[in-house]
Formats: sequence, C-alpha cells, structure tokens
Amino acid sequence: MADIDRIVSRIGLARRHGTPLLLCLDYDGTLAELKDRPGDARTPRPVLEALRRLVRFSNVRVFMVSGRTAAQLVRLLPIRGLTHLGAYGAQTKRPGGKATWHPRVRALRPLVRRMHRSLLRDLARFPDLIIEDKWGCVGVQARLLPPAARTEVAQIVRARLRRLDRRRCLVVAENAYGIEVGPRGIDKGWAVSQLLISRNGRWRRPAVVYIGDDTSDEAAFRALRGKAVTVRVGKPLPSAAEYRLANPARVLELLERVCTEAVSEPTEPNLRA
Ligand SMILES: [Mg+2]
Repeated sequence: MADIDRIVSRIGLARRHGTPLLLCLDYDGTLAELKDRPGDARTPRPVLEALRRLVRFSNVRVFMVSGRTAAQLVRLLPIRGLTHLGAYGAQTKRPGGKATWHPRVRALRPLVRRMHRSLLRDLARFPDLIIEDKWGCVGVQARLLPPAARTEVAQIVRARLRRLDRRRCLVVAENAYGIEVGPRGIDKGWAVSQLLISRNGRWRRPAVVYIGDDTSDEAAFRALRGKAVTVRVGKPLPSAAEYRLANPARVLELLERVCTEAVSEPTEPNLRA
C-alpha cells in the first residue's frame, strides 16, 4: 500500500468515528514548489480549490504553519476560513481576525530590528542575498548562493548574534531558503503544541494531520509523535515523520482525496477558528 493510501485510510478511520479533523500545512515546498526567491512563489489553482473545499466542512480546520508572515500567507492563499500561524507560530491570524504577535516576540522586537540592520551592513557584499525583516524574526534567504558562500553567511550571522544578543534570546535556524534568526523556543513544534492545547477545550481528541517538507517541520513531527499523522514532503531523508509524499503534486492529490474520501458532507463556510 502506498503512503498516500495509508494516510487517507488513517484519516478516514478517525473520521468515521465522527472525530473532527485538524489539518496543519506548511506552505513552501509543501503546497507550492520551492522557488529560488520566496517572492516568486505562487499557489497552484487546484490547491486553492482543494483548500476552499476543505474549509467548508463544519468540523475541519485548516492551519497554515509557516516561516512566512501571516500577511504573506494571506496574499498567497486568499481563502476565508484559514488560520495562519506565521513566523513559525510567533504570529497568529484567525479567519476574519487581525494578525497578532506573541507577547514574547513583541518584547524582542527592538533586538530583531537591530539584528536586521546589522546584517544589512555585515552582508552587504553578497548581492544575491535577501535579508528580510519579518518583524518577529530576520530571514536571510541564501538559496541563490553557492554552498561555500552560504556557510560563510551563516558564520557571519552567528557571529553578529553573539555580539548583539548577550542574553541569548534569539537563535539561528537553517531551512530550505537559508537562515532565520528568531526567538528562542518558538518553532513549529512549539506552534503545534500550543495549537493542540488551545483546541482541547473545544474539540476532544481531534484527528491531527501535519504535512511539511523542511528541517523546520521536523520540530513539529517530533512534537506530534503519537498524536498525529505526520507527513514529510520530498526526497527520502531521515525524518521524524511517519509518512512521505514525493512532492507538492502528491500533497494536492492527498488534499483532494481527503475532501472526497475522508470527510463528511460540506456545510456552510465556517469562519470560526
Ligand atoms: Mg516548507
């Protein structure tokens, strides 16, 4: 049996017992192909259509869990009914609501701003680098750089952080696009753990599915071990996820099958988080 059949079967089993479905999705490399520049990413129309169908089910909730900001996710996924956990969960935007930053992230904003400004100077000699102030973290997108230059950039970022952040409030994490400097303790594992705690009062033991493609998703796979169906997208690599899908096209196929085989009949668009 292929992984996609096993995943659909497990979701279907849970759903036949009336369990609500909580679907957590990464964006880049999961719903859309990775691009050299994050700004070039586009959501394929069939993906938008599948997500629009999913959010119409009364007991399905779709959460985007991404390193992108909520504003970027809203632009890429103009769908009412999605909840966005942006900047690795540091930012939350519920359907119809405004995006809010976690209080710990707000407290670290001056340090993040200083880090961004310093990196603009420190890394000025790398013209292909995109150094993005995401408000709650700094993204250094180095996909266009050769490996040796990427290593050098990572060393410069770490050295700058050691000098600026004596209390070790921020950490460096590497992902498919490059390097992120963000608040210690806030990652996708933390984000999904918070999500499960906050859902518990409303939905007893929902069926949880998490799909992601990147090292940043591994924290979520580990946090969800034994609690969710976890799926890593991409080539076979060591992963804490239970299942693997080869590429975003397979993820789309899964979402379409979840719509038709693993969830009950749609209801009115449900805009509650
Ligand atoms: Mg990704």
